[in-house]
Amino acid sequence: MAQKEFKAESKRLLEMMINSIYTQREIFLRELISNASDAIDKIYYKALTDDQLVFNKEDYYVQVTADKNNRTLTITDTGIGMNQEELENNLGTIAKSGSLAFKHENEAKDGHNIIGQFGVGFYSAFMVADHVTVTTKALGASEAYRWESSGADGYVIETAEKDSVGTEIVLKIKENTEDDSYDEFLEEYRLKAIIKKYSDFIRYPIKMEVSGQRPKEGAEGEFEEFTEEQVVNSMVPIWRKNKDELTDEDYDNFYAEKRYGFDKPLKHIHVKADGAVVYNAILFIPENTPFDYYTKEYEKGLELYSNGVLIMDKCGDLLPDYFSFVKGMVDSEDLSLNISREMLQHDRQLTMIAKNIKSKVKSALLSLLKEERENYEKFYGAFGRQLKFGVYNDYGQNKDVLQDLLLFHSSKEKKLVTLDEYVSRMPEDQKYIYYAAGESIDRIEKLPQTELVADKGYEILYFTDDVDEFAIKMLVNYKEKEFKSVSSGDLGIDSEEDNKAEEAAESDNKDLFEAMSGMLSGKVKSVKASKRLRSHPVCLSTDGDLSIEMEKILSQMPN
Ligand code: ADP
Ligand code: MG
Repeated sequence: MAQKEFKAESKRLLEMMINSIYTQREIFLRELISNASDAIDKIYYKALTDDQLVFNKEDYYVQVTADKNNRTLTITDTGIGMNQEELENNLGTIAKSGSLAFKHENEAKDGHNIIGQFGVGFYSAFMVADHVTVTTKALGASEAYRWESSGADGYVIETAEKDSVGTEIVLKIKENTEDDSYDEFLEEYRLKAIIKKYSDFIRYPIKMEVSGQRPKEGAEGEFEEFTEEQVVNSMVPIWRKNKDELTDEDYDNFYAEKRYGFDKPLKHIHVKADGAVVYNAILFIPENTPFDYYTKEYEKGLELYSNGVLIMDKCGDLLPDYFSFVKGMVDSEDLSLNISREMLQHDRQLTMIAKNIKSKVKSALLSLLKEERENYEKFYGAFGRQLKFGVYNDYGQNKDVLQDLLLFHSSKEKKLVTLDEYVSRMPEDQKYIYYAAGESIDRIEKLPQTELVADKGYEILYFTDDVDEFAIKMLVNYKEKEFKSVSSGDLGIDSEEDNKAEEAAESDNKDLFEAMSGMLSGKVKSVKASKRLRSHPVCLSTDGDLSIEMEKILSQMPN
C-alpha cells in the first residue's frame, strides 16, 4: 500500500503553537532580535571565507522603534536578508529553520554562534501583533520582497522597495481588550527592560531611539525635549572576558546589576570550562541569608544562557539543594533546548555541567575556609544550616562533598572548628569524636554528662542547632572515628578501676536504687551507679541510639 503523508490543518497548528509554546508573551522580542542577530552572523561567517566581502562591525546593528500613534513596533536589521524563495521557505513553512540549515552547511566554518534551530520563534510575533509585515533584501540581490500576514489566514509575498540589504519587521500591536493590555510593548522603558533581560549579550548593538525631557543647558529651571539614539545592550558578556581583565569590583557590579542580592558577595567563582562540556559560568557565594531562604518560597537556581541569550531565570537542576544559596549564571553552547527555549530537554550536558558546578562550589568553599577563615565563618553563619540539612536529607550520600565544610563549636577552642581540626589533635588513646547536644553553649557546659569526657582532657563538639545531631548520625564517622554522644551509655573510656568502683557502688546501694526505681517507675528505665560523674550528684542518660535532645526534637515534630 502506498504510504500517505500526514495532512496538517496549518491554520490550527499555527494557532496552537502561538498560544501554547510560550508562557510569557514578552519573549517575542527575544525571538525577533535573535533572528536579526543570526542574520548578521551569517554575513560575518560568509565574510570569513569570501574575500569579496568585508565585514565592518560598525555597519551591523539591530534597531527597535516604537510608534505609539500608529501602534507599530519595528525591528530592523542589517543582516543577510532573504530572497523570495527563502521568504517562502522560512516564513511560509512552520518549523522550517533556515538558520539550522545554515549551521549544517557551514559546520566546518564554525557557525556555532547562530541561535535559531526550530523554525518557530518568528511566529511568536503573533502573540502581540495582529498583523506582521516583513520587508527584506538579500545580500547580493537586486530585488526586495515583502511578506505580510495576519496570522492564521495565511500570507502574501510581493516585490517591494528597499535600498539596503537586511530585514525590517513591522508589528501592528494588538488593540487592548477588556482584560488584556498590549500598550507595554510600545513603551520605551518596557522595551528597554525586555531587551536588557533577554538580549543583553547579543553581540551586535541593539539601538533604540529614546526621547524624553532633560534640563536645558545654560537655562536654569528650564527643560527641553530630546531624542537620541542609545545602544541598549551591553554586548560583551563579562563571563566571556578573561579573568585577568576583570577586578573584584567588576564581579561585585555584575552581582548588583543582576540583582542576585543586595549584599556584597563573599566570593565569586568564574568558570571557563573547555573540556568534555563547554560552558562559562559566574557563581557567587552571598554574604547574607535571603529573607525567605529557609522557607518553601525560596527558589534555588542559576540563570541559564544559551549563547548569550537568556533561556531560564532559575534553572534549579544546576544546583544541589545543599548549595541552593549559590547565585549566578551559566552560559553554554552545548544545550539541547526544546522549542519554547523555556525548558531544557533533560540531557547529559546539563547533568555534566551541574556536576562540574558542584565540585567548583565545593573547592571554592574549601579555599574560603582555608584562606579567609573569618569570611567562611560569616558564610557558615548564614548558610551552615543548609549544609547540615544536606547531610541529613541525603542520608549521608554526600558525605564526601560536605563533611569537610562543617563547623561546630568546640569545648577546647571556644570557637568553631572543623572535624579535621578535631581529629588531627585527638590524643592517641581517644577512640571517639565526642559531642554534646543542648540549647546553648552555656547549657551544654553545665551538663553533668560532659564531665568525665572533659576530665579525660578530650575535646567535645557542642551541638546547639536542632539539625546537628541528625546530620552527624548520617555521617556515622569521620576519618574512621565514630561520633559518640557524651550522654550515651558506653563512652568507651572506662578504666579497670572505674569499672570496679562502679560495681562496688552498684552492690553497696542496691536497696537505695531499687527504691528509687520504684518511685520513678514509668519515668526511667533503671537507676544505676555512674562512673561518669565528677562534681554532679546525678545525671540522665540514654542507652538507645537517640540522645535526649533528639528525642525532644522528635517529640515536638508534627506527626
Ligand atoms: P529559527 O530562528 O529557529 O530558525 P524562526 O521561526 O525564528 O526559527 O525563523 C525561521 C527562519 O526565518 C530562520 O531560520 C531564518 O532563516 C529566517 N529569518 C527569520 N528572521 C530573519 C531575519 N531577520 N533575517 C533573515 N532571515 C530571517
Ligand atoms: Mg529564531
